[in-house]
Amino acid sequence: MPETPTSLIRRTPWPDSTSRPLGSPIQPSVVYASPDPDTLDAQYAGTTPGYTYAREGHPNADVLAAKIDGLEGATDGIITGSGMAAVTAALMGVLKAGDHVLGGDQLYGRSLRLMNQDLARFGIATTLADPTDATAFEAAIRPETRMILIEIVSNPTLRVADLPAIAAMARARGILLAVDNTFTTPRGLRPLYHGADIVIHSVTKILAGHSDATLGYVAAKDPTLRRAIYDFAVTTGMTASPFDCWLAERGLFSFELRYDRAEENARALADHLSGLTGVRRVLYPTRPDHPDHNRAVALLGTRGGHMVSFEIEGGRAAANALTRAAPQIAFAPTLGDIGTTLSHPASSSHRGMSEAARAALGITEGFFRVSVGVEDIATLKAEFAAAIAAAAR
Ligand SMILES: *Cc1c(COP(=O)(O)O)cnc(C)c1O
Repeated sequence: MPETPTSLIRRTPWPDSTSRPLGSPIQPSVVYASPDPDTLDAQYAGTTPGYTYAREGHPNADVLAAKIDGLEGATDGIITGSGMAAVTAALMGVLKAGDHVLGGDQLYGRSLRLMNQDLARFGIATTLADPTDATAFEAAIRPETRMILIEIVSNPTLRVADLPAIAAMARARGILLAVDNTFTTPRGLRPLYHGADIVIHSVTKILAGHSDATLGYVAAKDPTLRRAIYDFAVTTGMTASPFDCWLAERGLFSFELRYDRAEENARALADHLSGLTGVRRVLYPTRPDHPDHNRAVALLGTRGGHMVSFEIEGGRAAANALTRAAPQIAFAPTLGDIGTTLSHPASSSHRGMSEAARAALGITEGFFRVSVGVEDIATLKAEFAAAIAAAAR
């Protein structure tokens, strides 16, 4: 007898196996079937475990969250569909009209936009202040300040925030401290152990590490806060794709190896760049010539991270010549890839700023930011030397 269409429509039972796969399965199911209403009720009440609807949670997100929880010393982290979703959930899931939020003035570009343009439409006031200057930062606090949002190492000038002072002022005044730890990673510093209440990641970057998954992570120390962030993320549909979560989980197996190698390369590349003709300055947090050297060493020890910035002589023409002379180094506005990538803030992340505002930060046409990868360091040094020589011609 041929199969009837009906038998194809009904799900074929998943094969039983006493052995378990070593690799995590990818579970794309949008919905989960429960045995009866009593059980479903218990699942929603949280008295029996079980997934119901993927927007509210799925195994691939939970496996990924558990891995990042372990790195950050967090519990019950939430995976979102992007790093910006995580930033948005942390702010909008917690703040209400009338609240004030104080942010670092060199936050990630879209975080700045969220603070300056979007929160205001919902009646949430925002001030940006320099987190490397504790006095200026404290002066921007208001009676209605409910949250502080900072990054430890800024983009692209790699300035180091005065985390101990900011955490102390937040604690003393009962203000929530949220840290976007994307640049520093838990390998460099774990914010929850330094007074932060909320930790945020763009998992898209070095945690996942292969430029093939767009994801975010947010964890809060306080379960009530965690619940508010989770509910906001679920209601506004910030859910991550199971496949992306699976890719990021796979990436995380090698995160520590990749990070350590990239950091070792970054340190060596910074020293190499500083010796090349045509290079005006090099920024790397733990180098003695960095403006926040002492704070970087006190906070991060030897963990200067995988990011290096530098400035060459000359304008846009020299910058064009540099990227063209280094075709093996992807000129791409991202960071944290397994391979080295190069970004040019004046034409990308900071293009919306006036030239004068950029100049105040030291971002000229000759300014580049490097996300250092795990390549052979001798190759990297030679490629940068050739590219910088080409730019000088
Ligand atoms: C990239 C990035 C984000 C945004 O993450 P997406 O995954 O691109 O949405 C937020 N903060 C920092 C520091 C980033 O580098």
